[in-house]
Amino acid sequence: MKKFSIVIAGGGSTYTPGIVMMLLDHLETFPIRKLKLYDNDEKRQHMIGEALKIVLNERAPEIEYTYTTDPEEAFTDIDFCFAHIRVGKYEMRELDEKIPLKHGVVGQETCGPGGIAYGMRSIGPMIELIDWMEKYSPDAWMLNYSNPAAIVAEACRILRPNAKVLNICDMPVGTLRRMSQIIGKTPKELDVRYFGLNHFGWWTSVKDKEGNEYLPQIREYVKENGYLTQIEVDTQHMDPSWQETHKKAKDLLAVDPRFLPNTYLKYYFYPDEVVESANPKYTRANEVMDGREKNVFSAAREIIEKGTAEGSEFAIGSHATFIVDLARAIAFNTHERMIMIVENNGSIANFDDDAMVEVPCIVGSDGPEPLSQGKIPEFQRALMLQQVTVEKMVVQAYIEGSYQKLWQALILSKTVPSAKVAKKVLDDLMEANRGYWPELK
Ligand code: NAD
Repeated sequence: MKKFSIVIAGGGSTYTPGIVMMLLDHLETFPIRKLKLYDNDEKRQHMIGEALKIVLNERAPEIEYTYTTDPEEAFTDIDFCFAHIRVGKYEMRELDEKIPLKHGVVGQETCGPGGIAYGMRSIGPMIELIDWMEKYSPDAWMLNYSNPAAIVAEACRILRPNAKVLNICDMPVGTLRRMSQIIGKTPKELDVRYFGLNHFGWWTSVKDKEGNEYLPQIREYVKENGYLTQIEVDTQHMDPSWQETHKKAKDLLAVDPRFLPNTYLKYYFYPDEVVESANPKYTRANEVMDGREKNVFSAAREIIEKGTAEGSEFAIGSHATFIVDLARAIAFNTHERMIMIVENNGSIANFDDDAMVEVPCIVGSDGPEPLSQGKIPEFQRALMLQQVTVEKMVVQAYIEGSYQKLWQALILSKTVPSAKVAKKVLDDLMEANRGYWPELK
């Protein structure tokens, strides 16, 4: 079987060890000849890179392994770039969350003004990664799961329309895992129909391979419990704030009981409750910095000090097996059915062709082929049009350096109550993001 060369961009990420462990667990189905980590933060890259060097020496010494902060070294001779960068790191995420909250507005990583701020920071560096990949390994594919995925995907569509970039999110994968538990199945036994935007969608069908429909059964469960399940289902969406979010799905279902909602809709349907229950001094960013970030870096330190990973191994990022599924789909033309972020082009019949939507696709070596989801109801269509316009206007504001357009994008977001509040939030975010955003006029 062919062996592949991979670079992980955002190599110093808290997710990198879990993803590498997961890759090592899948070498039989996805063999690797070379693995490189790339980050622009030398210190973080060194720590994670050194610890993983020890892991790889012990687990798979046959894989050629390096870590680097040099783009040419990173992107030369690769088949895939797995991209999960966080421009501005948790320091800036904290501000994305706390600045809107100060004005009584949802403060969230990808939804509302926080997501817009993060999008404005991420477009430039993401395009830079694509350009390096195309320069040094023109045949390679980028599997991007850097957030905010909706804005990043729209920026790729406009700025690098022909690039081999696949945008994917783990939320539909994680929620399907919960659904499969509710009905006593595994995700691989199920095929779904789904429509929406990233972090803004609905399942319209969940069937097994014999064609039996499970949506009504799942709906009865979600009506009572949301997506909260008894068994630990993944290693990612488990912190207390996430448990609240899974539970909240029952109130999202109440808005339209025909379809199963994406959990992120809570920020658009119940922004008032989200703000009321938030602690403006301690947000999700603090939870991660005090939890996952500390744990991952202290595990890395321990491995380096001991000179062995025995007894202090990194946890396997089992939630991330979708990355291997996607890479295999491209590499081996598996025609896997996966929910991806793609240009609509008719897959949602009554929605704009040029919108980046999230729908099931068949993925093979030419990339994703979106499956037709038919027409969607006017309630969802109107919500989606409003939200996709926010995402498009952010990208336009970035390209044109337009304050006016960015202000309009904030005004359009369902999470923001008025133009006045939008302006206050925007001005504070702009100040905090000096050096990250282009100059706005
Ligand atoms: P993190 O802060 O732990 O790691 C991100 C790393 O990216 C940091 O080491 C940082 O130095 C690096 N980085 C920042 N800008 C860079 C650049 N221009 N070039 C190279 N490296 C750069 O963050 P995290 O929590 O691990 O999250 C990483 C990303 O993955 C985020 O965008 C997050 O939202 C995303 N994520 C996506 C999914 C998904 O399924 N879509 C799931 C989880 C996390």
